[in-house]
Amino acid sequence: MNEVKTPKRPLIFYYSIALLFLLLLNFLAIPYMAKRQVQEVDYGTFMEMAANKEIGQAEVQETENQILFTDKDNTTVYKTGMMPDPDLNQRLFDSGAKFSGEIIEQTDPLLSVLLSWILPVVIFVALGQYMTKKLMKNAGGPNAMMFGKGKSSARIYVQSSEGIKFSDVAGEDEAKENLSEIVSYLHDPSKYREIGASMPKGILLVGPPGTGKTMLAKAVAGEAKVPFFSMSGSEFVEMFVGMGASKVRDLFSQAKEKAPCIVFIDEIDAIGKKRDGQYGGNDEREQTLNQLLTEMDGFEENTGVIILAATNRPESLDPALTRPGRFDRRVPVELPDLQGREAILRVHAKKIKVADDVDWNKIARMASGASGAELANIVNEAALRAVRDNRPFASQADLEESIEVVIAGYQKKNAILTDAEKKIVAYHEIGHALVAALQSHSAPVQKITIVPRTSGALGYTMQVDEGNHYLMSQQELENKIATLTGGRSAEELVFHSASTGASNDIEQATKLARAMITRYGMSRDFDMVAMETVTNQYLGGDASMSCSSETQAEIDRQVVALVKQQHAKAIKILEENRAKLDQLAQYLYERETITGEEFMKILES
Ligand code: ADP
Repeated sequence: MNEVKTPKRPLIFYYSIALLFLLLLNFLAIPYMAKRQVQEVDYGTFMEMAANKEIGQAEVQETENQILFTDKDNTTVYKTGMMPDPDLNQRLFDSGAKFSGEIIEQTDPLLSVLLSWILPVVIFVALGQYMTKKLMKNAGGPNAMMFGKGKSSARIYVQSSEGIKFSDVAGEDEAKENLSEIVSYLHDPSKYREIGASMPKGILLVGPPGTGKTMLAKAVAGEAKVPFFSMSGSEFVEMFVGMGASKVRDLFSQAKEKAPCIVFIDEIDAIGKKRDGQYGGNDEREQTLNQLLTEMDGFEENTGVIILAATNRPESLDPALTRPGRFDRRVPVELPDLQGREAILRVHAKKIKVADDVDWNKIARMASGASGAELANIVNEAALRAVRDNRPFASQADLEESIEVVIAGYQKKNAILTDAEKKIVAYHEIGHALVAALQSHSAPVQKITIVPRTSGALGYTMQVDEGNHYLMSQQELENKIATLTGGRSAEELVFHSASTGASNDIEQATKLARAMITRYGMSRDFDMVAMETVTNQYLGGDASMSCSSETQAEIDRQVVALVKQQHAKAIKILEENRAKLDQLAQYLYERETITGEEFMKILES
C-alpha cells in the first residue's frame, strides 16, 4: 500500500502565518484589549462629580458629542453625552480637573507593553521550539544535531531465529575459531571477569573482498544471540564537519544501552586512514576517527560491547586505531583453499536444485582463486542457466559454464571471427596448453576454448591446480612465465608474426618476472634485498618501488632478460613438438572447445 504523505510546508509558510497573526493582534486586538473600561453615566452625575471636585482629567470630544472624564485617582473612565451647557468650561475649571487630549484612548501602559512586545517574542520562541522539535523528529530523535545530520543510521539486527550462524559460513575455520572466543565471552562475561581476563575491545577482520567478513561478524552476533549494529565506514563521513563524530557518539551510546552487543563497522578504512597531517586533509574524516578513538578508550573493559571492523586495506589504517586497547586483535579472512571452496559451493548449493552427480571437488578445483562471493555467484549463475534452458535443476555443465561466465564473461554470440583469426587463436591457446603440459611442473590443462567471451578474451586455456599451493619455487614461477609466453610463441612459430592477442599474457608475465626479481629475491645480483613493497595486499597487490633509479634500470634489464629467456624456452618446446602443435590446433579449430582429457589423449598418442 502506498503511503500518502502531505507535502512538507516550507519554513516561510509558518513564519508568514506568525507575522500575519501579530499584525492582526497589533492593529485590532491590542487596541481593543488594552483600552480601559469606560463607564457610561448621565450628565447629572457629571455635574455632581464636577461640583464635588471628584474629576481627575477631562476631555471634551465635540465631534463625537461626548465628554470623557476620570475620577480623582485616574482609575475609572466615565463617559457622558454632551448637553447644551454654556457653563461647561467654567464648571470643569472650577472642579479642578485637568484638561487633557488623551486621557481615555491612551492604553494601559503595562498591558500595552505586554501585548506588543512580550507576546510576539513568546510567539516566535514557541514557533522556533516547535520547528526544531519537528525537524528533530524527522531526523530521528533527540540526539540529532542541527538539521538532523548527527544521528547514526546504524542498522540493528536483533537476533532472530533465522540469524546467520557459524555453520552458514563455510571454510574459514581459523577465523571461526578465533571468533568463537568472542561468542563464549558474550554468552558469559562473568567467567572472564572472575579470572580478570579482558576481552579485546575491537577485532579487525582483514582480507580480500567477498571472503565473508560481514558474514562472520553477523554469525558472531547470531551465535551469541546479541543485537548487531552494522554501519559502513563511509556512512560516518558527511559533508559537514562534526557530523561523523556525532554519529559515532550516537552509535556508541545506543550500543552501550543494548550491551552486550556487537558493533560492526564495515570498510573501516574509509574513516580509519592514517592521519598524515598534510595541508588540506579531510577534517571531517579525522574528527570522526578521533571520536572513534575516544569512544573506544571511553568505555571500560568488559562492558559487553565488542567492536568488529572489516577492511581490505589494513596497511592504510592509522596506527592509533590498531594499537592495543583498540583494535588489538586481527583476524585474517583469506581466500578459501580447495576444501574451503568446496564447502562454500556446497553451502550455496543447498539453496538451489542441483543434479546428484555434480562433482563439487572438480568445480572447486576449476574455480581456483575464487572468493566466497564469487563462488556464491557461480552457483547462482548455474541455477539461472538451468532456468533459461528450462531444466528443473542445475547440472555439472551449468556449473562449469558459470565458472567461465564469472571468470571470462558470457559467450559472445555474435562475435564472428574470420577463419584466419580463428586459426591464430587456436594456435595461441594450444601454444599455452602445450608449453604448460610439457613442463613437468605446470598444472595440467582443464579446458581449452576459442569461443569469444564478453570480457574480450577470444579464447582461453583453463589450468587447474590439483591441490593447494602455498609455496611456489623459482622453477615453477619460471615455467609459469614460459606458459604465458607460449601463446605468442606458437603464433610466431607458425605465422611468423605477432598479434594483439597476447597483451594480457605479456602483462602477467611481466608482473611475475618483476616480482621474482624485486620481492622474492630470485635474482643473483640483488640477493635478499626488497626493491619493492606491496601496498595493497588484498586489492590486486600494487607495489611501489623503493630503490634508486640506477637499480630500477638494472631491474628493468633483468626483467626483460628473464622473460626473454622463458620466451625462448617456450619457442624451443613448441619447435620440438611442432607436429603435436599442428594436430592439436587443428582439433581445437574444428571443435572450438576441448577438454583436458581430449588434449592429453592427443598429446600422448
Ligand atoms: P566481505 O564482507 O568479506 O566483502 P561478505 O561477507 O559480504 O564479504 O560476503 C559476500 C557474500 O559471499 C556472502 O553474502 C555469501 O553469500 C558469500 N560468502 C563469502 N564467504 C563465504 C563463506 N565462507 N561461506 C559462505 N558464503 C560466503
